[in-house]
Amino acid sequence: MKQVQFEYRGQEDLAANIKRIKMWCQSSLISKVIFQIYTETLDKEKIEKICRSIVDEIPYALYMGASTNGNIIMGDKSKTKISIVCTIFEYPTTNVMILQYPLSEANSLEVVESLTAVVKDNPWVKSITTYTTMRGMSMTTYCEELGMLPRNLVFCGGGAFSDNINDDAAFVFSSSGQISDHAAVFLLVGGDDYHVKATHVTGWKPLGRSLLVTKAKGAVLYELDGKPAYQTYYKYLNIKNDANFFFNTLEFPFLYNLNGMDILRAPIASNEDGSIMMTADIAENVEAKIAYGDPWTILEIVYDTAVSFEDFIPEAFTVFSCAGRRTFWGDDEIGNETKPFQSIAPTSGFYTSGEFLRNGKHVNQHNVTLVIKAEREGNTEGKELPKVYMNTEEFSGKVSMINRLATFIQAATEELEEANRQLGIAAITDGLTKLYNRAEIQRLISEKVSEDDSKGSHGIKRTGNSLIMMDIDDFKQVNDVYGHKEGDAVLRSLSKMLKEVINKNAPGSSAGRWGGEEFMILLPGYNRKKASEIASIIREEFARLVFPNAPFQTISLGVTEMIAGETGDISCIRVDDALYTAKADGKNRVVVK
Ligand code: GH3
Ligand code: MG
Ligand code: MG
Repeated sequence: MKQVQFEYRGQEDLAANIKRIKMWCQSSLISKVIFQIYTETLDKEKIEKICRSIVDEIPYALYMGASTNGNIIMGDKSKTKISIVCTIFEYPTTNVMILQYPLSEANSLEVVESLTAVVKDNPWVKSITTYTTMRGMSMTTYCEELGMLPRNLVFCGGGAFSDNINDDAAFVFSSSGQISDHAAVFLLVGGDDYHVKATHVTGWKPLGRSLLVTKAKGAVLYELDGKPAYQTYYKYLNIKNDANFFFNTLEFPFLYNLNGMDILRAPIASNEDGSIMMTADIAENVEAKIAYGDPWTILEIVYDTAVSFEDFIPEAFTVFSCAGRRTFWGDDEIGNETKPFQSIAPTSGFYTSGEFLRNGKHVNQHNVTLVIKAEREGNTEGKELPKVYMNTEEFSGKVSMINRLATFIQAATEELEEANRQLGIAAITDGLTKLYNRAEIQRLISEKVSEDDSKGSHGIKRTGNSLIMMDIDDFKQVNDVYGHKEGDAVLRSLSKMLKEVINKNAPGSSAGRWGGEEFMILLPGYNRKKASEIASIIREEFARLVFPNAPFQTISLGVTEMIAGETGDISCIRVDDALYTAKADGKNRVVVK
């Protein structure tokens, strides 16, 4: 395959370029010719004229295009408003097809159905590249459906945009349809000698602690950790809700994992109720982190990504880069992150309103991301491996302090989170036995009681949840005769045995140390019959335990089933009473009340 990339500098210049391409096509063995037209202006007349010029001169040429937030050509941001990329496939085995469908939220499933049918009829298809409008539509369901396409297909693309980042006007067009502001265009390419590979890279890294998305709908993020989302941005980043909000938050977008892939979402604006408008749909109940972007870190990752394509020996790269990245870098420097790709193959594409990439069985819509597609015809045998070049000098050292500070914050946060986790465990654990402490087992009992209340089970007498309370018989003697240390060993062995019995016979139950040598077990979903069987097992198992210095230990156990409508305290008094009876009746026994 070959590519000719040029900027649009008027009709005359265009005509000369097309002529040159035509002559080249006539003089060689050509399979297919495709023009990709990227336009930063929404001037439809001009686009129509360009399309006509192409097909008038090369009638068999296919074309497709989109309005953009800037064009990428020869690995850099184009200086002109319109750029044209002509791809010439040279292998007779390579097939191409362009499809265009009207697209809205209402018909998105039909679009996927039609596309799927075409793919089924054309088993040669290896990659699908889409340009799509997105206005007035949530892409989540559409993307989910696209994920059903055959697994071996590479699927990527970009959302059309306009030169003004605050304007959602956009259109796509192709040789298979008109210029449309509600449509999706698909380029299908494949054949035995066609090879394709796509990936994504952000360069943004997670920072600080996780925040739970507690409320989100479509692209509106309402709450983080149960608080208005804007408060979080203000609290951690001191970003004010002013004209610079988008730019400031771009340096710190949201990062979360969806379907095993890192997804970035940037806030666009904050609303009066403290919610934030995001660049695209955000999932609910995901752990999100604020991420930071700094030029050096991004370039390092971009460089590594470009290197990962060396083996593939690409003949062309297509890049879908977020318009937000262009805002982040500025027009003079945005090219830095596409130049490494250009150093090994011609690189073109555009700045989008959303980057699409398939990962496994999911098509994800990204933001603030680079999606990169590499293509080649023929095998790599005998070809020289290209080497990525990047000028690192002007960046090195300059901004790496940000990176180091971010690493410091991340490491410190991880330490604190781990310490918090340990403290959390310590706060509910009994030191000697490693079972729950009394406060925790009481809390679990109360929780169970309120759960049953909310289930409205007042009418039913028994809840099907039980308690077992136990106490070691004549334990004072163990201490008196064999010493406190031996007593502790007995308590530990009993606790270990309790855990084993619960794991095996009563999963889902919780054991805690009630005090001294008294223990309480909460058994959710075990009625008193089942609970008394488990109590018997515990009594027998304990009697079987052999203590070298203090043999022949026994325990007494009380069992009760919790009754709907009563407090946890009342159930505890009843099970304590059952235990008291077991003691009074001669110990080493189970009493149910
Ligand atoms: P009963 O059969 O009526 O339960 O008799 P008991 O001797 O077990 O009852 P009592 O409540 O009089 O004695 C409990 C003893 O448990 C008192 C105390 O020395 C001992 N004990 C409480 N906590 C610990 C502990 O953490 N380690 C050790 N070694 N002993 C403890
Ligand atoms: Mg005792
Ligand atoms: Mg006791």
